[in-house]
Amino acid sequence: MENSLKQIADRLRRAKSVAIFSHMNPDGDAIGSALALSRALESLGVTTQVCVESDLPSNLQFVEGLEKITKKPSSAYDLLVCVDCSEAQRLGALSEEFFFAKRKKIDTVCIDHHVSNHGFCTYDFVQTCAANCMHIATLIAYMGAPFDKKTAEYLLLGLLTDSGNFSHDDVDEACFLLGAKLVKAGADICKLNYELFKKQPKQRAKLFGKVMGGIRYYHEGKFAAIVISKQLMDECGADPSMTEGFVDFPLNVDGVEVAASLMEYKKGQWKISLRTKTYAEANKIAGVYGGGGHVRAAGCMLFGDVEEALDKLSYTVYQYLE
Ligand code: 5GP
Ligand code: MN
Repeated sequence: MENSLKQIADRLRRAKSVAIFSHMNPDGDAIGSALALSRALESLGVTTQVCVESDLPSNLQFVEGLEKITKKPSSAYDLLVCVDCSEAQRLGALSEEFFFAKRKKIDTVCIDHHVSNHGFCTYDFVQTCAANCMHIATLIAYMGAPFDKKTAEYLLLGLLTDSGNFSHDDVDEACFLLGAKLVKAGADICKLNYELFKKQPKQRAKLFGKVMGGIRYYHEGKFAAIVISKQLMDECGADPSMTEGFVDFPLNVDGVEVAASLMEYKKGQWKISLRTKTYAEANKIAGVYGGGGHVRAAGCMLFGDVEEALDKLSYTVYQYLE
């Protein structure tokens, strides 16, 4: 059932104890959405627990309050909220807990911005926009909770992450208006910019050089792919979370419409990140392999050796090129 954020705000205010879940391999929008909502609810006297199944990425270790996030709930709750999550499977190991809650008739709420989300909770609010934190900001305002510096900084973390620092093609007036409001509330945009888009460990810089030296082009240069093997990561002392943003580099090469990174997640299992520049629909390409996401950014998993994975992907991408 599609609900308004106002109705959801009322439902949240009536809760006593809320569990907030977000997607596996969380990014700044997932973590920002969850922590901002948690803080707002606590300020209204509602207890919360925030859960994400995965280890938190190394580039987000600077975020204050990460210790609040656990891998699963440790106590009972009477409402379960999923933020920035397009389907139950994206919760990873937490999907079991989610279905358990549903069986126990605990109300579930989804607040999301992915085009591939068709609703999976008791109350769903799904509307595409640049970042899910924009919905959370509206929700917090409806709840009547304060916009303090810390809440504003969580929301700005999400807004900057998912809007590509106010650069993606879904960035609109609302993004800038919210950005202005958050900066006014005290969020440190300069610090966030540095932490999210500039700062990097030496291992990442080294890996970046090696990976970009091997960009592969297909279909007259309209499709570019990079391969981030486990072996390369080990050679550089890097971990998967250090590859955030790598796929933007091949995308920005002149003439490229679709870019993909293939990151070796486990032996024979590749985490695919897809980005498109102007017309190809990334969510549809990822959807062929059971994944999803947004029109310009999506992801899925592929299985097999790297050449098999690349063959499959380049064949599929070809169907979506003009
Ligand atoms: P990234 O490439 O940065 O990991 O993800 C880009 C976008 O695609 C994100 O919005 C993310 O939620 C979505 N996405 C990434 N991997 C998957 C996947 O395996 N399944 C689905 N449904 N969405 C994904
Ligand atoms: Mn998001």
